[in-house]
Amino acid sequence: RSKETSRNTYKFFNHHMSEQASKQLSVEQELRKAVERNELVLMYQPQVDLISDQITGVEALVRWQHPSRGLVPPLEFIPLAEETGMIVPIGEWVLRTACRQNVEWQMAGYTPMRVAVNLSAYQFKQSNIVQTVAEILRETGLNPKYLELEITESIAMQNAEQVIQTLEALKLLGIQISIDDFGTGYSSLSYLRNFPIDRLKIDKTFVDNITDSAGDAVIAESIIAMAKSLKLEVIAEGVETKEQYQFLKSSGCHEMQGYFFSKPLPVDRLTSKLSRLSAASGH
Ligand code: C2E
Ligand code: MG
Ligand code: MG
Ligand code: MG
Repeated sequence: RSKETSRNTYKFFNHHMSEQASKQLSVEQELRKAVERNELVLMYQPQVDLISDQITGVEALVRWQHPSRGLVPPLEFIPLAEETGMIVPIGEWVLRTACRQNVEWQMAGYTPMRVAVNLSAYQFKQSNIVQTVAEILRETGLNPKYLELEITESIAMQNAEQVIQTLEALKLLGIQISIDDFGTGYSSLSYLRNFPIDRLKIDKTFVDNITDSAGDAVIAESIIAMAKSLKLEVIAEGVETKEQYQFLKSSGCHEMQGYFFSKPLPVDRLTSKLSRLSAASGH
């Protein structure tokens, strides 16, 4: 009886595995086609500076406009793209599209702002990552100071020497580097002090609780204070309420991103927003 059960379990498991493998293969093929057929789209979420009261940056966030599944969010295909290596062509497309779009906004006369692009660990580890970024900057003509690459703490935690070397080569191109989702990993500011980075993005999970957890409030306040003393810029992500905004502002965090200001927007809607803001400021 027990033998029977285990054989069945084994069979089921095996069947399940091959189904999984073929599903992965077909997703890989679909992802490949998605790039070729131009099914990927970028949304742009404003990053607001509360001192200048301006949009000083936008984060480019990818979606997959799937012919039958509709708009697929990144967490449903980026992990698979990383497993299959498809993140490399996808990431290049994202980088090129975001840089090109930023040049278009500048040519239309809007106040120059950064465009932030997420880099996955797999992409970051490619031996030609620096050349790829350099080539896309050259090709699109974007002034490097208006490109920011977001890397996560987990990238920074692996092989520090190597990571610092790559970051230094990227910094030589003149771009900016930020640490995304800061506070969720195991790195500390004293560890990151050795990294040539410009900005920390305080993760949404801290922002979520600052107004009702004294502990999280203290953590957020000390991240802001330490970052400032290390001459790093700080931005809070996932700011949804006025209370969160007020707390962060009084703690000295002057850049924010979140639904309280704006959701990620399609390019035409962000363009209208820039256009309205620029008309209102009289430029
Ligand atoms: P992330 O880089 O931390 O991006 C922030 C995520 O939080 C975005 O989700 C954004 O839409 C969401 N968000 C922003 N403000 C708020 C808010 O106030 N409330 C809530 N509930 N959510 C907010 P999204 O677009 O679904 O992206 C999820 C993750 O997928 C990103 O997290 C990033 O890790 C990854 N991702 C997105 N685009 C790319 C890409 O082009 N390349 C790579 N490698 N990863 C990407
Ligand atoms: Mg990000
Ligand atoms: Mg983030
Ligand atoms: Mg996040």
